[in-house]
Amino acid sequence: MTGTDGTAQFACRACGSPSIVLPAVLADEAVVSCGRCQSALGSWLGYKSYVSRSIHAEYEAVPAQPMICVDPIIAPALAGAL
Ligand SMILES: [Zn+2]
Repeated sequence: MTGTDGTAQFACRACGSPSIVLPAVLADEAVVSCGRCQSALGSWLGYKSYVSRSIHAEYEAVPAQPMICVDPIIAPALAGAL
């Protein structure tokens, strides 16, 4: 797992900062914004599905590894996909 850029690529398109500000209320339609320039990056739902897809991609790359997810942010998204 070296040399890949497969991790945490939800960076701001305006300033390139990987820092994000989560919405105060984690509703699916709430806006996730940039931690540096405050521009809107997308919805909380979009962010969750992005993270979920990233994890699935990693899991498929390493099939011998059991899929364990204890992150309360991601678990509901995965449960919804099953
Ligand atoms: Zn920004």
